[in-house]
Amino acid sequence: MQVLKFGGTSVANAENIQKVISIVGKAMDKDETVVVVSALGGVTDILLDAIQMASTGNQDYFSKLELMEARHLTCKQSLIASESQLEISGILQQAFSEIRNLCEGVSMLNELTARTKDKMASYGEWMSSKIIATAMQQHFSAAWVDARKLIVTNSNFGSASVNFEKTNEGIQSHFVQHKSRVWVVPGFIAADVNGVTSTLGRGGSDYTAAIFAAALTATHLEIWTDVSGMMTADPRLSTNAKIISQISYQEAMELSHFGAKVIYPPTIQPVMNLKIPVWIKNTFAPEDYGTKISDLQTTELGNDNIVTGISSINNICLITLEGSGMVGIPGFSKRLFEALSNEKINVILITQSSSEHSISVAIDGLMAERAVNAVNLIFTNEIALQKVEPLKLETNLSIVALVGENMRNHSGVSGRMFSALGRNGINIRAIAQGSSEKNISAVIQTHDVKKAINILHEEFFETTFKQLNVFIAGTGNVGKKLIAQIDQQINFLREKLHINIRLTGLLNSRKMVISESGIEISQWETTLQNAGDADLTKYIEQIIELNLRNTIFVDVTAHEPVAAMYEMLLRKSIAVVACNKIAAASAYKNYKKLKDLAREFNTQFLFETNVGAGLPVIGTINDLIHSGDTVHKIEAVLSGTLNFVFNHYDGKSSFASVVKQAQDEGYTEPDPRLDLGGTDVMRKIMILAREAGNVIEMESIENNSFMPEACMQGTVDDFYASMEGHELHFKQLLDAASNNGNKLKFVATFENGKATVGLQQIHPAHNLYHLYGKDNVVLFYTDRYQDQPLVIKGAGAGAAVTASGVFADIIRTSKI
Ligand code: ADP
Ligand code: ASP
Ligand code: MG
Repeated sequence: MQVLKFGGTSVANAENIQKVISIVGKAMDKDETVVVVSALGGVTDILLDAIQMASTGNQDYFSKLELMEARHLTCKQSLIASESQLEISGILQQAFSEIRNLCEGVSMLNELTARTKDKMASYGEWMSSKIIATAMQQHFSAAWVDARKLIVTNSNFGSASVNFEKTNEGIQSHFVQHKSRVWVVPGFIAADVNGVTSTLGRGGSDYTAAIFAAALTATHLEIWTDVSGMMTADPRLSTNAKIISQISYQEAMELSHFGAKVIYPPTIQPVMNLKIPVWIKNTFAPEDYGTKISDLQTTELGNDNIVTGISSINNICLITLEGSGMVGIPGFSKRLFEALSNEKINVILITQSSSEHSISVAIDGLMAERAVNAVNLIFTNEIALQKVEPLKLETNLSIVALVGENMRNHSGVSGRMFSALGRNGINIRAIAQGSSEKNISAVIQTHDVKKAINILHEEFFETTFKQLNVFIAGTGNVGKKLIAQIDQQINFLREKLHINIRLTGLLNSRKMVISESGIEISQWETTLQNAGDADLTKYIEQIIELNLRNTIFVDVTAHEPVAAMYEMLLRKSIAVVACNKIAAASAYKNYKKLKDLAREFNTQFLFETNVGAGLPVIGTINDLIHSGDTVHKIEAVLSGTLNFVFNHYDGKSSFASVVKQAQDEGYTEPDPRLDLGGTDVMRKIMILAREAGNVIEMESIENNSFMPEACMQGTVDDFYASMEGHELHFKQLLDAASNNGNKLKFVATFENGKATVGLQQIHPAHNLYHLYGKDNVVLFYTDRYQDQPLVIKGAGAGAAVTASGVFADIIRTSKI
């Protein structure tokens, strides 16, 4: 004997039922077969919704019922030849009229009991099983048997407990007395000792199948559904979830207990006791292997994954009993649990603080009010005496759980779990580890569930594969180059670093687009052009709202309002990578706050490209400082623009035209006066000094500007015109230097806490002399580099090198 169960989706319509018939047709060749079926997908919900509406006087239930009836009739029409329809048509009409009568009655009484709900819900399986049995009879002989005559439960309607003694006896004697190669049984429904219809709880058809399998000591039980097996995570939450081909009963039970809907939790117990193997199979891909659930332990199966699966339960609330009066006095928890059990409230998770003065219990959110009232009532005296506080209730919570027998043999799993969640800003309200060490569960905000599942999946199953979700602000010179570089490197990163970069958002001054599944990089320009209007605040809000794991906000603008958003992002543990210097060069207090926030919220604020574009300047200082070195002096030429200008200015073409050329080639700030006036260099030396551990502000930096005051007024056009007028001044500076055999360099120094910037004549023997094109150079004099400085030199401006520095920072965020 074998038992096959087909779920709601498998029997949702005629086309699917045909697939079921063909699967059963093949299976029956091997052995006698019991086929347990669910209601047509969604019908149980419709029936329960309809009767709920009826009980509140809402007449819209009629239209719901009409649609439900039409679905059954269509199914019947397409599956069964008209000459064989007489009996089934009568059965359906009878069911429809009973359903309507039930709704009418409830509507008149304005009252809906659990017993009536069970009665109502039972019609789903009754109708589906009748249709399927009749449809099968078109192909082979199949008998129908009423589960309500065989499965006996108590009268706890809604979620009745099975009386196994009576049930096994009933099933066994029925199968002795009646013979058929194929039996069709409605799942989910049963009856109490008085014959009143009950149900086995939502999803209970799986349980029906297991009850039959156990009673008949079947060779195996097959649960046919719409996925190809039990997966490492709910596939609706994690697209990377993988099929688990073999799993032990205990693990499967644990996973389903913590929310893996693919199998109803009580299902495993009856078959486990008899070691009947359970297969999860896909009706829509019957050739797929599926999952085998058996008594083999994970280690025997050769599965060396630490974690077998991850699951979650939503709509949880946490109740906490707290009070100094609880310490050392036995009996508090006993009374708490008694109060809950009297109310038939199921406890999902318990944690007790080690100081014993608080105990938290996770329960179904729907039970919150009942639990609070019952517990407060039981502790009325203690509350009045202030020995315990009134019960604390937190709602909108969920549980995520790691399940796996191997966890027992590996220490540090919970540490990894909590640090992975922490890195992504997920706050954990309570934790519990099952005493068998087969599960570790955490209570978190429902809003964070999807993110948490993906983080944990990545942490425990995809150690080889990490997804970064990148949101870019700015699609100017640097932004464009950055996107092109990402596009070019994407496969390399996947293969070599096991990093998957997903471009999830783009914003420029005109348009913005966000796509959780990723923007097709090669199409970014058209996608952005056709997208909605830019709104920076909305962009940031949506990034936060989406709550994706490993989110990185990349600022390749030079705008103040964008920099002003970092704080909000960091507070959500979103990494910020900026080539925009405004934040790092703002008041020290703000710079420090952002750095501290990054640390506090376990994320990163990286701005390597603020100094020397892609050159590893800030990274080098950080390495020096972290390894215990002290920076005494920094000497640097930090403006690619000014270098370009002084290297190209030879007095033949005007100084203004050389500046213009630098701007046209993309080496200047959008406003070139920031470069020419030295402000940009001041910002850079200040950032370096800060990164070396100094408290320093812009106002304290001495700027010996070579620019005539008049040139710095008005618009950018005025600036160019005015420089032409001052050509003589620039020519004199140049001549003075060349007469001494020197070159002009705009030098920044930091020494003894003091920063200075200004134009200097540099002698050929000096370290700063040989600097060409738009190169930058930084000299660090430190404890370790006392006489000969540590020199970093190379192209310090330009969109491509800046973009590559930003890119490197993006990759760096993935390394925490
Ligand atoms: P049926 O109607 O066949 O009983 P269910 O909807 O009850 O099907 O269960 C199957 C669904 O369970 C799948 O479609 C899947 O979305 C969901 N599910 C949740 N967690 C898991 C998991 N760990 N593995 C597989 N499926 C899961
Ligand atoms: N039809 C019932 C439900 O939707 C039982 C089941 O499908 O397993 O809950
Ligand atoms: Mg199910």
